[in-house]
Amino acid sequence: MSIAITNGNIITMAGSNLGIIKNGAVGIEGSKIIEIGLNNEFSHNDYDEVIDASGQIVMPGLINVHIHTGGNLLRGGAQDVPEIEWMNKAIGPLGRNLDKNGVILGSKIGVIEGVRSGTTTFAEYTSDVGLLIEEVYQPFNVRVAAAENINEISLNKDKLGPRDLYEFDRSKGENEFKKAIELVSKYKDDSLVKSMFGPQALDMISLDLLKTIKEKATELGTQIHMHVAQGGREQLQIEERYGQDKTTISVLKEIKFLNQNLIGAHMHNTSITEREYMVNKGVKMASCQSSISMIDGIVPPLSHYLSLGGIAGLGTDQAPGPGNHNMMREMRTASLLAKISTKDPTNLPAWEVLKVATIGGAKVLGLEKQVGSLEVGKLADIILIDTQRANLVPTSTKPFYNFIPNLVYSTSGEEVDTVIINGKIVIRNKEFLEIPEKMLLKEAQDKGEELFSKGEADWRSANSYLVKMHDKGFL
Ligand SMILES: [Zn+2]
Repeated sequence: MSIAITNGNIITMAGSNLGIIKNGAVGIEGSKIIEIGLNNEFSHNDYDEVIDASGQIVMPGLINVHIHTGGNLLRGGAQDVPEIEWMNKAIGPLGRNLDKNGVILGSKIGVIEGVRSGTTTFAEYTSDVGLLIEEVYQPFNVRVAAAENINEISLNKDKLGPRDLYEFDRSKGENEFKKAIELVSKYKDDSLVKSMFGPQALDMISLDLLKTIKEKATELGTQIHMHVAQGGREQLQIEERYGQDKTTISVLKEIKFLNQNLIGAHMHNTSITEREYMVNKGVKMASCQSSISMIDGIVPPLSHYLSLGGIAGLGTDQAPGPGNHNMMREMRTASLLAKISTKDPTNLPAWEVLKVATIGGAKVLGLEKQVGSLEVGKLADIILIDTQRANLVPTSTKPFYNFIPNLVYSTSGEEVDTVIINGKIVIRNKEFLEIPEKMLLKEAQDKGEELFSKGEADWRSANSYLVKMHDKGFL
């Protein structure tokens, strides 16, 4: 199958700038891009399908570098609550009845939402991630960089106070690690799936197992995706376990865990010097701007990391946090938060955040040779954006390309007209070609209602701030 996309304004993301081609064309053969350039210099040879992209922007698919789609049916379940209540009082009681089918269904909805708004690669992070690869990503033809969650936490953690140490169960961690190794070897030659290790966080795993994971990752050339320095709860555990003067970064530094193989999610509980150290070591950042703002009330240090020369990408984490998996909105949020937190309107401009969400994300996931920019020889993960809408008109190419800021600040995600992943058309004219979206939405609605209603008694007795607001008639 070969596809030509003609007459579009292309943002290639190739090179050090955005590599914009005014009125250009892209040729795809199989899974790869075989030609790209000005429309009037394009071969226009015998393509099986020609997509006229007049009035559209053509760009690489967006890359979501940190996402847990499995909790999607809990959307709206835990926002506007104190951070300390988020897990145990708000989302926990509602999620207690989330079964395997609910996780798969939630994941499907999350991926549908993400692809609809232009995401073509998802860095999925969960226990039993193989299930979502098989049930969701492969049948949907969507690219995934999957981290198998590994922790040594036994089940009774919820009853502990914040300074009571979690008990570690080494055999549980070993089993999950084994599963992760199997996934890496199973998908090592798969063009849509990349697998990696996901030690959950420093407070949930022993240093011994972390060292073993690091050695194996080096041996296999596999990345490690881990929540790093994600706040107060983790810091208390680190102090109790390793000493009052320790931080997540100081402990990881001591075991030489910080290197270019590591993707650190969040990193908001880090000092300036710790960030400088991580940038020097080549640690990649997965920053979830909306999620951490919503759950912790903190602006995550993305723009600082970038200003130090660090490699970073954007993620949406889980739906009951940011509320959505819409990378268009995430780009806007990231830019606004950067400007507000530094009182500098030039901080994280549209052109920079576009790079972060595409080629930046690809670099984070070690996929920069395959995706993240539109270049001959790369895999064809391409989105087309309809600009002929009230929120995007006018599109001008003179005296400059106003569609660059418009893409970041004016889109809602609904402008995505066509999505191509690995050379295959997944969405055309804003409709999925093979995914039964309507049917899945209905199933998710039914399953979600059941889940919320089953959790009602537990939710009420946990007595979070949301229960009080419900009783006052605000929820
Ligand atoms: Zn996470």
